Amino acid sequence: MARERGLSVIAITDHDTTAGIEEARSAATDGLEIVTGVELSALHEGGPVHVLGYFFDLAAEELSAELKRLRGDRTLRMAKMVAKLNDLGVPATFERVLEIADGANLTRPHLARVLVELGVVANLDKAFTPQWIGIGGRAYVEKHAVPPPRAVDLIRAAGGVAVLAHPGLYFHGRPVPQEVIEEMAEHGMAGLEANHPDHTDDQRAAYAGMASRMGLIVTGASDCHGALRGMRMGVMTTEPKAYAALRQAAGLSRESNDRKSNDMTRVSPKARESAARKGSAAGRAGARS
Ligand SMILES: [Zn+2]
Repeated sequence: MARERGLSVIAITDHDTTAGIEEARSAATDGLEIVTGVELSALHEGGPVHVLGYFFDLAAEELSAELKRLRGDRTLRMAKMVAKLNDLGVPATFERVLEIADGANLTRPHLARVLVELGVVANLDKAFTPQWIGIGGRAYVEKHAVPPPRAVDLIRAAGGVAVLAHPGLYFHGRPVPQEVIEEMAEHGMAGLEANHPDHTDDQRAAYAGMASRMGLIVTGASDCHGALRGMRMGVMTTEPKAYAALRQAAGLSRESNDRKSNDMTRVSPKARESAARKGSAAGRAGARS
């Protein structure tokens, strides 16, 4: 699909896992370059801050240990949310959540589908309310996460570059607070994902301006989650110049081996695969992880 959409470079940025990268590399044809990537779940005052890491060393110990911890916590957290629902009289089961997730990281949208199946809520959105599993809701359990500057440190220590994903989408419809962005920049963050399909045109322009004031690289990505929110791979890309700057920030040569045009998008392979397989929603949905 990436090739059909005119892309020469894509980054795989699954939530808290790098499991899909080798698979994507072996499936890549026609010289498509797969950049090592991840979307780390950081947390600032209860709100999710997604930090992208690119070009890091997959074998770096500290980062892999943290990713492992984040994944392990997802399982424990899901079990706790199911238990809270049971206490509220909802007969949800952990087994059903696992079936729906079909091997993907367990996230709240999976649990939301169980609530819809059980007729507890009319649709997925109704599950993300204070009544059920919205942030701070009756059956909500906070997940283990690192503070955003720590996420930047971890990615850099692994030889990668850190980029703040979709800064306009934090939570409760608010953007990531300015002081958080500044602190991340102080920790050596390389870029801002100004060009995200869920940003408005005004937000894209504002973040591009902020990036240039702060000396950050402007990146763009489709944040493609497969069928869940439309197959949008390639709708937003990273300019070849920005891509070269990111490579340079990671200590690599500006040009990737033999390529002339370096668009970069990022996709979540797990979500795409299981969505394609089941022809229905799968994987995680944006900030709702
Ligand atoms: Zn995200």
